[in-house]
Amino acid sequence: MKIFYTTAHHHHDPLFEFEGGRFIPAHERASRGEIIKAALTSRKLGNLALPRHFGNEPILRIHSPEYVDFMASAFTRWQERHGKDAPPAFPSVWPGRSLRPRVHTDGEAVLGHYTFDMGTPILAGTFNAARAAIDVALSAAHDVLSGARVSFALTRPPGHHAAGDLYGGYCFFNNAALAAQMLTDARRRVAVLDVDMHHGNGTQTIFYERADVLTVSLHGDPAHVYPYFLGNADETGSGAGEGFNLNLPLAPKTDWSDYGAALDQAIARIRNFGADTLVLPLGVDTVTGDPTGAFRLEGDDFLRLGEKIGALGLPVVITMEGGYRLDVLGQNVADVVDGIRQKL
Ligand SMILES: [Zn+2]
Repeated sequence: MKIFYTTAHHHHDPLFEFEGGRFIPAHERASRGEIIKAALTSRKLGNLALPRHFGNEPILRIHSPEYVDFMASAFTRWQERHGKDAPPAFPSVWPGRSLRPRVHTDGEAVLGHYTFDMGTPILAGTFNAARAAIDVALSAAHDVLSGARVSFALTRPPGHHAAGDLYGGYCFFNNAALAAQMLTDARRRVAVLDVDMHHGNGTQTIFYERADVLTVSLHGDPAHVYPYFLGNADETGSGAGEGFNLNLPLAPKTDWSDYGAALDQAIARIRNFGADTLVLPLGVDTVTGDPTGAFRLEGDDFLRLGEKIGALGLPVVITMEGGYRLDVLGQNVADVVDGIRQKL
């Protein structure tokens, strides 16, 4: 298995995020990427490979040109307003209900126009890191198109909360959606199975009106868990996409018995859809004690999760999403990959 990885992810290494009325140490740090890399390579689950460079064309299949331009210049523009030594960029105002959500392209309003939270700082190197993560994801998709049974995209920053023109939840570009689109463009029938603790709102939004990509997500019930404003069971797709989005929200404290049953349901839907290729946005923030999570998976549960996915028998592109308990992050990711490879 190839593990697509680039040191460019270090360009995005925030120290702080905003939560509970104060700045707290950021959960989504560059050290995560290194921990995952070390765990996968030390268990000999694959070989590191550099991504190849894809141009802007595949990005514009998912993200709007205005949004890509915004991301490319966001920090420079922030510096123009707040000085060369400006701190990380955070929004301070949003187009809430009853306000007029007109497009702002500059000034303080632009960040609030393009994001939905304060957990996602933009730094000087954020665009470079996020842009490189796109190439990592597309390289893994290309690898599967070239015949690989499983390919690992060590994407950092993660992507599944990002929609076509929206960032948030530590995510800027939707790596999994970009991979799914590349596969779909190559006439694969793609299912996206999101097993991160948090609903993949960006991925859902991107494919919501489409029948050619099935999106399935197992996640904490948004009544209690981030991203709160999307991820309910009654969001089933719209228009041509009606019936092609499956949300399986689960209660806080869910352990393997309920999780495994929901995963079986997800897998049955993917089989029924007739998918020939799987994209797996992989988050292991489902582990007991994750600082952003609410579930109680542990130990061999991640191996079992991987085995169930591998037993689908489909080629898999894995993109890395969440997982913030650093003491078990590497082991949990490696267990999922190990489980997939044993059954595939
Ligand atoms: Zn997550």
